[in-house]
Amino acid sequence: MTSSDPEHHKNEMKKLQEAQSKKRRELKDPEHGLVLVHTGNGKGKSSSAFGVIARALGWGQKVAVVQFIKGKWKTGEKQFFDRFSEELDWHVMGDGFTWDTQDREQDIEAAEKALQKAKELISSGNYALVVLDEINIALRYDYLHTDAVIAALERRGETNVILTGRDAKAKLMDYADTVTEMTEVKHAFHAGIRAQQGIDF
Ligand code: ATP
Ligand code: MG
Repeated sequence: MTSSDPEHHKNEMKKLQEAQSKKRRELKDPEHGLVLVHTGNGKGKSSSAFGVIARALGWGQKVAVVQFIKGKWKTGEKQFFDRFSEELDWHVMGDGFTWDTQDREQDIEAAEKALQKAKELISSGNYALVVLDEINIALRYDYLHTDAVIAALERRGETNVILTGRDAKAKLMDYADTVTEMTEVKHAFHAGIRAQQGIDF
C-alpha cells in the first residue's frame, strides 16, 4: 500500500482527526486573562494588537489602550477607534515621552504615570482587553522595572493584556502566555522609503 492509495489516505486522515479531537477535548479555559507579548524587529507589533482590539470590539467587549510613547503623527488607528468611544478607552500617556525630549527624568515620570494608569485599568475588572503599546521601550530604557509591570499584570483577573515593543525583557516573556517575535525579512524604510499613511501610521 502506498501513500497515494485512497484507502490508506482515508485511514491516515481518520487517525489525524481522532488525535485532533482528543487534543481539543483535553483543552481548558485559562484561570486568568492571557498575557501576550509582541516583540522583535519586524513590522507588525502594534498593528497586530490593533487587529486584536477590532476582534474584541466585534464581540462587544470593552477595551483600553495605553500608549507609552507619544507619536508625533496623527494615526489612522486612533482616528478609526475614536468611532468606538463607548467601548474603547484610549490613553496617550507619553506626554513628554518621545524621542525628542532627551530628558530622562521627565521620561521616567511619564512612564511611571502611564504604568499607574495601566495598573488601574488592568485591575478594574472593567475591560476584556488592555493593550500597553510600546511599554517594552520604557522597560528597555529602564524607565520602568519589569517587576513593577509584572505586579500590575498579576492583578489582571479575567482581563487579557497585550504588551508591545522591541526588545521585550526575558522575564516578561517568561511570564507571558503567548509571545510573538516579529522577524524583519525586509522593510521599505531600508530602501529609503518614508513611513506611509495607512500602512505605517
Ligand atoms: P506597526 O505599528 O506598523 O505594527 P511595529 O509596532 O511593529 O509597527 P514599531 O517598532 O512600533 O513597529 O515602529 C513603528 C513604526 O516604525 C511603524 O511606522 C513601522 O512601519 C515602522 N517600522 C517597523 N519596523 C521597522 C523596521 N524594521 N525598520 C524601520 N521601520 C520600521
Ligand atoms: Mg509599535
